[in-house]
Formats: sequence, structure tokens, C-alpha cells
Amino acid sequence: MRNDATTRPASFSTRAIHFGYEPMDNEGALTPPLHLTSTFAFETAEAGGEIFAGERPGYIYSRISNPTLDLLERRVASLEGAEAALATASGMGAITSTLWTLVSPGDEIIVDKTLYGCTFAFLRHGLAKFGITITHVDLTDAANLAAAISQKTRIVYFETPANPNMRLVDIEATAKIARAAGAVTIVDNTYATPLLTRPIELGADIVVHSATKYLGGHGDLVAGIVAGSTEMIATIRTTGMKDMTGAIMAPFNAMLVLRGLKTLKLRMDRHSESALHVASVLERHPAVAQVFYPGLKSFPQHDLARRQMSAFGGMIAFELKGGYAVGCAMMNRLELIRRAVSLGDAETLVQHPASMTHSTYTREEREEHGISEGLVRLSVGLEDCDDILADILQALPGSAAIAA
Ligand SMILES: *Cc1c(COP(=O)(O)O)cnc(C)c1O
Repeated sequence: MRNDATTRPASFSTRAIHFGYEPMDNEGALTPPLHLTSTFAFETAEAGGEIFAGERPGYIYSRISNPTLDLLERRVASLEGAEAALATASGMGAITSTLWTLVSPGDEIIVDKTLYGCTFAFLRHGLAKFGITITHVDLTDAANLAAAISQKTRIVYFETPANPNMRLVDIEATAKIARAAGAVTIVDNTYATPLLTRPIELGADIVVHSATKYLGGHGDLVAGIVAGSTEMIATIRTTGMKDMTGAIMAPFNAMLVLRGLKTLKLRMDRHSESALHVASVLERHPAVAQVFYPGLKSFPQHDLARRQMSAFGGMIAFELKGGYAVGCAMMNRLELIRRAVSLGDAETLVQHPASMTHSTYTREEREEHGISEGLVRLSVGLEDCDDILADILQALPGSAAIAA
């Protein structure tokens, strides 16, 4: 018996809760079973050979696939509007397994100027050692890509919104130029999630995620996902993941991400609503020099944000007057909000990219790549928004004077 949700079109949250699972196929168990097994028995030796040869469906070994991961993969593929997906041990596992599969020496990867710190390090210090050219282009203007792309360009890779400074890239315009030049477009959709932006529907070829963040949503796991065409995902699974990185997701984590997905829309709605409110208050505060949040009218790419995102998400970047020293003192005065990296959790988290997540860049590189030394990154959580705001306001310099 197959679940109706796999055959009948259903809305986002309904698919996030039901897609691909039928209790009556599983002893009536309402939640999917957790398949804690490393290997799978073959009925006969011949059957095992046929499964290996791809002539017969079946599981072999959990570094290749596992039924619990398989459900998560099909569910995320459905939410992303992709044909298939691959669950990985971490976001970096998703990114490295994908890129190791697709590039060869002599290829060029064009990336946006701003990238998550470890992605930047993997490209610049990792792949670059193996004869891959990494070219940074300011992808906030697609015309820059048109000018830079060439026969050598194998991949165009970017985040939107970018971690940490919230720059957006026009997916449709960028993917169109990449496709015309024969390059593969890869979008890190960690910040937006498939609820707010679906890059594949806009022409991208592959989406990667740190599922550690909003997809898991509860700060209790590290995980990643790649989504794309059936053919591309099969190649990444059997080349990059199976043989090169081995970065497979643990079945228990797949179960936790499946649980997180059930509330993705509820959580993203709340993250987005609270972040918009916090960003508007920050913007009006005299201690604040600048706020970067796509939902603000003052955001330079607000029009693109309105076109490309159905809401603006839970991440804010801001800079205080006085830069790092003042930002540091402010972070130290916070009482409810935790000083921690990662994002997308129920808890509101604050961190300083230049000394933490983006310390993989040198100071000069940060300057060149638009990550200022004073920037503070805030992941607005699910607490009552008044409590989040009260904590921020009491920590901002001069707040006593304002309150009086
Ligand atoms: C956290 C993050 C990653 C890396 O994911 P891990 O799960 O920590 O390996 C990649 N991209 C972005 C945008 C991130 O925020």
C-alpha cells in the first residue's frame, strides 16, 4: 500500500509530515521505524550480485543507503521540488561529496564572494591544492557572472542569503547564465530552507543543506542533504559519498531530521516573524550602525528578496557603532541569548563571524569578501519575541538612557 501523499499533490507541511510513509506497510507504526543496521541480508548469493549490479532493487550496506535515510531523502526531495536527494553526515559532508564528484583537475569553480567559513576553506585550501581553479565573482549582479564564465567553468556555487552578511543572489538569472555556458549551478539553501526558496524550481541543478540548522531545527544533531536530479544524486552517492568522503548520515540522525521537518513551516513562520520585528527595532536603535535583513525596506536587495523568498527567515547580521569592541561588550551583556555558533535552533544564538565561523578567512580576505570585523550574527530563535527583544535592548549600549 502506498501513501496517498506520494501520489496526490499535497501542500508543504502535509508532505513534510506524511510524504513517502505508509503506517500500514509498517505494522501500523505511526512514526517510521529506525533501521539501525549496518548491512542487509541477501536472499541468495545471486540476488546479492544483482543488487550490486543495479539489476534488482534492494539495500546493500548503510554507507550507500538505508531505509530510514531513504525516507528522509525522498521527503526532502519532495519539499525542494527535486527528483532525488542524498542524506549526509554534515553540511560539509554534503558539499564535499558533491564537489569531489563533479570536478576534475583543470576545472574552474566560480563562487560568490561570501561563503560560509568552512566552505571557503574547503575550496581555497582543499580543492585548490588538486588543480581546481576557484574564482570569486560578485554574484549579487548576474552580469558579473556573464563576464567571468568560460569553457573551463564546471560549477557556479553560492549561498542565498549568504552566511554571514545576508547578501542575496538572483537564482533564476544566475542559473540561466551558468546553464547556457554548460556549468552546473549549486545553491547552499541552508538559510532559506525549501519553505522560503526552492532553487531547483528557479533553474538551479543542485541544492545543498546543512540540515544541522533549520531542517533539524533543535540543535541536537549534525547532518546534511544534497538534492538534485536522479542521475546526479546517484552519481554523488556512488562516487563522492560512497568512495571519496564516506560522509553518510547516521540512521538515528535521519529520524531526528524527519521529526524536525514536521514543524519546519511552523518554526520558519515564527523565526521569520520574530526576526523581522527584531531587525526593525535594531534598525531604529541609535547604537546600531547597520542592519542586514532581507525583509527590511532598507536592505539593498529587498526587491529580489520579495521575489525570491516567501518570507525572510530567522537570520540577521548587524554592526554596532564602535565595531568589534562595542559588539563584543554587547554580546557579553546578553542574558537569555546564548553566545554560540550554529543557527536555526529554538534558542536565539549570537556569534561574531570574524573571530568564530569566518576565522578561516584571513583579515585581508574578510575585507575583500565583505565580512566586516564588527559584524554580529544573530539567529533569532523561537522564544517569545518580547523576551528576545528585551535581552537585546538591555545589552545594547545606551539602553539605560533610552529606557529612562
Ligand atoms: C553550517 C553551515 C554549513 C556547514 O554545515 P555543517 O552541518 O556544520 O557541516 C554549510 N553552509 C552553511 C550556509 C552553513 O550555515
